[in-house]
Amino acid sequence: MPDPLLEMKGISKSFAGNPVLSDVDLVLWPAEVHALVGENGAGKSTLMKILNGVYQRDSGHIRLEGKEISLSSPHDARRAGISMIFQEHTLATHLTVAENIFLGMEPVRSAGILNNSKMVDLAKEVLERNSFPLKASASVSRLTRAEKQLVEIARALTIATRVVVMDEPTAMLSHKECEALFDIIRDLRERGLAIVYISHRMEELPQIADRLTILRDGRRVYSGAFNSMDMHGIICHMVGREIHELYPSRGEPGSETMLEVRNLGNGRQYRNVSFELHKGEILGLAGLVGAGRTALAQGIFGLRTPTEGCVLMRGKPARFASS
Ligand code: ADP
Ligand code: MG
Repeated sequence: MPDPLLEMKGISKSFAGNPVLSDVDLVLWPAEVHALVGENGAGKSTLMKILNGVYQRDSGHIRLEGKEISLSSPHDARRAGISMIFQEHTLATHLTVAENIFLGMEPVRSAGILNNSKMVDLAKEVLERNSFPLKASASVSRLTRAEKQLVEIARALTIATRVVVMDEPTAMLSHKECEALFDIIRDLRERGLAIVYISHRMEELPQIADRLTILRDGRRVYSGAFNSMDMHGIICHMVGREIHELYPSRGEPGSETMLEVRNLGNGRQYRNVSFELHKGEILGLAGLVGAGRTALAQGIFGLRTPTEGCVLMRGKPARFASS
């Protein structure tokens, strides 16, 4: 049996004394799409940031093609052919598409001077190869969120020769753009790369995933072939209980009024709004876009002071002049 492409073994990590990862193993084989799933806060992004040299592990080993490697910075990861599309945007918005794709690895002339025309040509090539409808010279500040995501993807593809981590890459993308991304992922797999794919859109996974690792509360609770477990099983492992308890029964709200909003208004987006919120109660605030939900919430919270009505906390008038 050949060596795995990459092996993370016994990885643990705490932030300020709070354990976030405990003894986690992850094995990636060449030419596989590895789905990494788990509830919010399970530790997926942290594990992948350790693999990309953004965070340092407290203990454990990382081996690339059988050899122990140290990943003390994103630069080390890049040199090892490992890249990541981050969940949060990391682009430099004042730079162009091409400059962002090659940030930190710009092509230079022999004298060490930036070779701008080469950079633009290379960027055009990457964008064309992946059918991304973007101009290499466009300023990133003028792009939509989906277009920015394509720049992040183009950058990761430029770096990756062995492993690409995609942390919620489709959150911003339309259905058509997702399909295009899946084609890119299949192409990367054909070229022998391992792709770690994180998504909360469970319905996407059967289309691309070969293997699966499930994290729960910072621990690995399952690893195996993707089709060795059905969706029901995956979700049970993620939440740690039988699925019919996915929404555990709620307690009855108490009778004590915690917050009262009386005839609140700001003269424009919302007017004459009144409601009571009781202890242990979850109150839904619904309305169409532009109906004033956000402005009302900001008014209650003190981000923007209302001009009419009042807010009472446990029966006492509350005036929040700031958040
Ligand atoms: P996931 O990606 O699975 O949603 P994360 O890896 O982002 O989970 O987070 C796991 C836990 O680690 C969460 O409780 C989160 O609050 C915590 N955490 C993540 N990054 C940091 C950080 N830089 N400092 C402190 N706590 C963090
Ligand atoms: Mg995350």
